[in-house]
Amino acid sequence: MNSPVWHPYAHLKTQAPAPKVVGGSGAHFTLESGERLLDATCSWWCMIHGYGHPRLVAAIREQAGELCHVMLGGLTHEPANALARELVRITPDGLNHVFYSDSGSVGMEVAMKMALQYQVLTGHPGKRKMLSLMKAYHGDTAGCMAVCDPEEGMHSLFAGLLPQHHFAPAPTAPFNATAAEVAHDLGALREVLERHHHEIAALLMEPLLQAAGGLNMTSPDYLRGARALCDEFGVLLIFDEVATGFGRTGELFAADHAGVTPDMMVLSKGLTGGYLGHAATLATDRIHDAFIGDSDHHAFMHGPTFMGNPLACRVALESLRVFEEDDYRGKIAALSQLLSRELLDDDALNHHPAVADVRVLGATAVIEAHSAETLKGVGDFARKHGVWLRPIGRWLYTMPAYITSEAEMTRITDVMKAWFLES
Ligand SMILES: *Cc1c(COP(=O)(O)O)cnc(C)c1O
Repeated sequence: MNSPVWHPYAHLKTQAPAPKVVGGSGAHFTLESGERLLDATCSWWCMIHGYGHPRLVAAIREQAGELCHVMLGGLTHEPANALARELVRITPDGLNHVFYSDSGSVGMEVAMKMALQYQVLTGHPGKRKMLSLMKAYHGDTAGCMAVCDPEEGMHSLFAGLLPQHHFAPAPTAPFNATAAEVAHDLGALREVLERHHHEIAALLMEPLLQAAGGLNMTSPDYLRGARALCDEFGVLLIFDEVATGFGRTGELFAADHAGVTPDMMVLSKGLTGGYLGHAATLATDRIHDAFIGDSDHHAFMHGPTFMGNPLACRVALESLRVFEEDDYRGKIAALSQLLSRELLDDDALNHHPAVADVRVLGATAVIEAHSAETLKGVGDFARKHGVWLRPIGRWLYTMPAYITSEAEMTRITDVMKAWFLES
């Protein structure tokens, strides 16, 4: 009998039966059949330590023996306090306050609500819209769908339901662009701000790497320019680091490449090493302090049931310790070098007629095809070679776990290249 489980992003009529995963260790997970698959995606980019990491598993077990859950309304506990202190320590200077929630989408909803309420509380009630970028992806809840790319962002069906926000063109200058090349992108951003700043509460962006919207990469200069424009026009800057946070772009946070402090930053995916769903929305003193006041409007009316869950906070703390103690920065740099050598430097791949572009940033690599048709069947092809690959549209990418060995990483890039060059 078919399983009652309804799978995400799937055409129910044509979807292949989902293989059953029974366990995992390191960069591999294991199927019921005994087949082991090398995960090139680390489960939607969150399992940064790979599967079955003994220290993360032990942290959850230990915390489960003490306290699995308690509400954060009017109460607190040490894992929530300790993780908040750690997040303040490791994120850009000035992000001193942490609001927990249970997923990246909700973390972004929290940031957008906070931004709007901040504007009301500081005397700008007309600033009720967001400014987002084309190619953006910020989550699947209604508020987040409204700030995803309205054309390619897979939510066009819901257009009539969603509030209308403003969009600026996606940045086009690459990661290593000169300041002059970035000026064109910043000019486009300035144009939208000049016209609409009086009704814009915040600019949202996935800094340096627009992930689910097509792995579009840009320069740290774009972030610095965006920061300056936001200050000029009285618009808050929100970094959605749900995908880029915890090392994915080569620095701990994408913001670190630019030395920029956003007004708010949203973290999820890698936050718990992927072991439990959780998110954090960080805010500066300026945002936080605007909420100190006497009116009814000063309370922030949001509170997910599972915010600050002790198991999630405890495993997130352990994840951060492992990250620092096991030199993950070094591991990410080595993976990045390998990805560049195997993919960027491969002439045959780069000149293949089906390939539009090849990009690498930190532990992220993408082969962009001209058409999604080109990638039909690549998942089955990879599986025959023992690798789990799941492209998004016309983008064949890898975002491996940071513990992926050199041999494993090469196996992944070999399969990605073979799909174009040998099949
Ligand atoms: C995945 C993702 C989200 C949504 O996170 P969920 O936990 O799936 O709700 C938001 N923003 C970015 C940049 C993401 O990659």
